[in-house]
Amino acid sequence: MSFAEKNKKQSIVQVAIDTPVNKLFDYIWDHESLGSSPQRGQIISIEFGKKELVGVVIKEIENSEFDIQKLKHVTGIAPCTSISEDVIGMAEFSSVYYQKSIGEVLLPAIPKYWRQKEKWELLSKAKRKTKSAEKKNHRNKEEQKVIHLNDEQETAIAELVKASQEKKFETYLLQGVTGSGKTLTYLRWLAKVLEEENSQVLIMVPEINLTPQLEESVRTAFPESSLIVMHSGLTDRTRADNWLKANTGEAKIILGTRMAVMTSMPNLRAIVVDEEHDLSYKQQEGVRYSARDLAVWRAKKLEVPILLVSATPSLETWYRAEDEKYKKLSLNNRAAKNATKPIIDIVDLNIDRQSGNKNEHGFSAHLLSGIAKNLELGLQTLIYINRRGYSPVLNCEACSWVSDCLKCSAHMVLHRPAGERSSLCCHHCGLIRSIPKVCPSCGNSDLIPLGKGTQKVEEFLSQQFPQAKILRIDADTTRKKGSAEELFGSIHDGDADIIVGTQMVTKGHDYQSVALVGVIDADASLFSQDYRAAERLFAQLMQVTGRAGRSEKSGASRVVIQTRYPSAAPYKYLQQDDVNGFLAEVCEERKMVGLPPFSYQALIHAEHKTLMAAIDMLKDASRAAQLSEAWPQNVMMSDVVPKTMVRLAGKERAQILMECVNRQSLQYALEIFQQALTEQNTKRKGVGWYIERDPVQI
Ligand SMILES: [Zn+2]
Ligand SMILES: [Zn+2]
Repeated sequence: MSFAEKNKKQSIVQVAIDTPVNKLFDYIWDHESLGSSPQRGQIISIEFGKKELVGVVIKEIENSEFDIQKLKHVTGIAPCTSISEDVIGMAEFSSVYYQKSIGEVLLPAIPKYWRQKEKWELLSKAKRKTKSAEKKNHRNKEEQKVIHLNDEQETAIAELVKASQEKKFETYLLQGVTGSGKTLTYLRWLAKVLEEENSQVLIMVPEINLTPQLEESVRTAFPESSLIVMHSGLTDRTRADNWLKANTGEAKIILGTRMAVMTSMPNLRAIVVDEEHDLSYKQQEGVRYSARDLAVWRAKKLEVPILLVSATPSLETWYRAEDEKYKKLSLNNRAAKNATKPIIDIVDLNIDRQSGNKNEHGFSAHLLSGIAKNLELGLQTLIYINRRGYSPVLNCEACSWVSDCLKCSAHMVLHRPAGERSSLCCHHCGLIRSIPKVCPSCGNSDLIPLGKGTQKVEEFLSQQFPQAKILRIDADTTRKKGSAEELFGSIHDGDADIIVGTQMVTKGHDYQSVALVGVIDADASLFSQDYRAAERLFAQLMQVTGRAGRSEKSGASRVVIQTRYPSAAPYKYLQQDDVNGFLAEVCEERKMVGLPPFSYQALIHAEHKTLMAAIDMLKDASRAAQLSEAWPQNVMMSDVVPKTMVRLAGKERAQILMECVNRQSLQYALEIFQQALTEQNTKRKGVGWYIERDPVQI
């Protein structure tokens, strides 16, 4: 007779707790004191050692393998709805796939305040009225204009509406250039989905703070529905309140960054992943999940359609669409009335140099004259350089000393913000040092900044065009809350003649009077060891090209790309406006060498104060794993190698890359490897390690 049969007043539940120990913990559930029966997905408090922790009920069991007398009790139930079944299922799947405990996946996805029992009472007295709801209602009536859709948009919407009405799982790729009306297309679809009573939709975006325009469009499109946002910039209280609204079904639209994929929603009917190729969907710490991939998993589990949106899809997604695993919806026409394709000039710096332009500041004669002409016409110019700071390195010409970081195998970047003190900063570990007065190695007083970043470009342009108003947008100028919005606002208001910016300016913003875009230093990415670098460069270039608006004065806008390698594929296809051509070429290359999407990869990473210890541990674990009888022979293992950037924040790092054409074989191999690593790890001290599935940066 089981414990449950004997005992009507108590049950045993298994609980997920945020700990690396990969198991569930058994607890006694006392019906009388808790006032209800256990439910899967309930957030509860429990005794754990001497502390009280918060966990999630995963299941009720008949008998515990432990001594019942010694089991501790569930001490309280959070005053909120249980986490939806699909999210618990997703946590169970992720736990296996990403090799973490369920608790490590599930608990961090619950807002902090809900993980603190002492905050529960406060949260249950929620201010129910949404601020946004008040704000939007009166605004909308005037703002909503009738926008006519073109045939391609209508076709895409019809297809999506059909899928959501039939309630079937299908992954769609909506591919279309900037200005083709992708956002409007998916918003119209979601509007249809929301007509059904009690339905909820999830819109995922890479970055909310940089795209206030998108939040605005979503609010405008759905004046009557309640919308909440989920991202890391919210206060703990707001995040907890928003999460509750999603979890009860009160919020109809959830707009969020990658963290939103784990938000519990009882009535989720459709998912959109905007800019699906964006790297920020990949979590780079803790559970290294891909929010895009999990979103597809979730849609499948719920049997609802999911739409992946991009102008430059990731090769994985694009290939699945070509392979007809995903359905492709294309928007080939620029929808806006006066939107035209920008003209793209590729400036060959080799020729530019031959013709006498010394190009010392990284600007070709062609680009400089373009800026001058633009200024005369009163139009805006955007200069894109994806490197912040003044110079990437400080160098002594006498002894060739360079400003290396003490803790990382990287140079410290010279920062020389106008009007402030200069310093050396490491962009990897955050170390900041003052500028040495003389060379620390030989005493020479002539230290030269090499190369250029946004600050140097800003400085040069302000000397070259003293009358121009120059605005710099990078992580340094946008650090303060709200400052990004402010800067973007002044661009829109025409308060800047020249904008110098990193990738940050390329996300989501349309600048109607930017008539010239200059890309001055893109070549570096062509020679990266990372096989995805070209794909990323191409996506960035497409995105920055898309920022060029069109104005009456200038006619079509112009994009100037400076390069020493004009025939490189990203430039060539960009000029031809041929995304599919580029992806087809990259796809062919990957196929020939068997790289993803034609194989699956995992990275085993180890780190220690000394490189030897990290390498030894990986070698021993790898040997032990491969000796296992169950080891799948079709899994390929690279040698143990130091990482490209060996030292980071004082730790030396090494890795093994595993590859297999079969995802399941790779899964088996990783489970064996995980076991071997755990065993090795108990034998030695202080070696950190993790396993990463589907790495996006190698
Ligand atoms: Zn020196
Ligand atoms: Zn560093």
